[in-house]
Amino acid sequence: MLKVEGLNAWYGQAQALFEVSLSVGEGELVVIQGLNGAGKSTLLQSLIGIGPRAQGQISWRGAPIQDWPAHRRARAGLGFVAEDRRLFTGLSVKENLWIAAPPRAWPSDQATPALRFDRVMALFPQLQTMLHRPASQMSGGEQQMLALARTLMTAPRLLLLDEPCEGIAPVLVAAMRDALLQLAREGVAMLVAEQNNILALHAQRVLVLTSGRMDSAA
Ligand code: ATP
Repeated sequence: MLKVEGLNAWYGQAQALFEVSLSVGEGELVVIQGLNGAGKSTLLQSLIGIGPRAQGQISWRGAPIQDWPAHRRARAGLGFVAEDRRLFTGLSVKENLWIAAPPRAWPSDQATPALRFDRVMALFPQLQTMLHRPASQMSGGEQQMLALARTLMTAPRLLLLDEPCEGIAPVLVAAMRDALLQLAREGVAMLVAEQNNILALHAQRVLVLTSGRMDSAA
């Protein structure tokens, strides 16, 4: 469903990605590993359309999307959770979730926002107990769950996740991993950047990025 061919990206004159190619099939869990600075975040950001200057082919369900702005890619089903979470810290958990669910016409083939909200609550019961708490008063792991839950409110077909289990308490790492594996079982495709082996152990494929270049055949 996602196919990337010959992707290059530059921060000014400095090239960060070199001819990266990869694909993610329907319902697949694909992990990208690499050291700090290897280019994992740049790759995910380039795919969602918020990265630096980039060149290459990105096709999503058969359509070339490399020239699409980020909001169009998101509407087409690409959901992104950034490493820094990008929550509305002054808003409550509930408000952070509902702000992501447009009240206007909802595709008939997808769950309504209300059903989706219930689904997200079932996936992350921890959030249910803190619906009215400002995001700024949550732990890092709870914020990470909220960031994922908020993206799920947009009904993504492919989740792009940047280090979802990084820097959070072990008990929440397990909850996050289990939630992601549950989503994978339900058929949500995922492309996950991680430095540890939490999701890689369950992935269909593990790709390695070294200094902006993909090591293994994608
Ligand atoms: P980390 O695990 O530390 O987040 P990463 O694999 O995600 O690393 P990137 O953040 O994509 O790597 O960085 C890839 C390269 O691009 C690095 O050399 C980094 O220094 C550079 N880079 C990243 N962001 C910027 C930026 N905003 N301006 C200039 N260079 C950048």
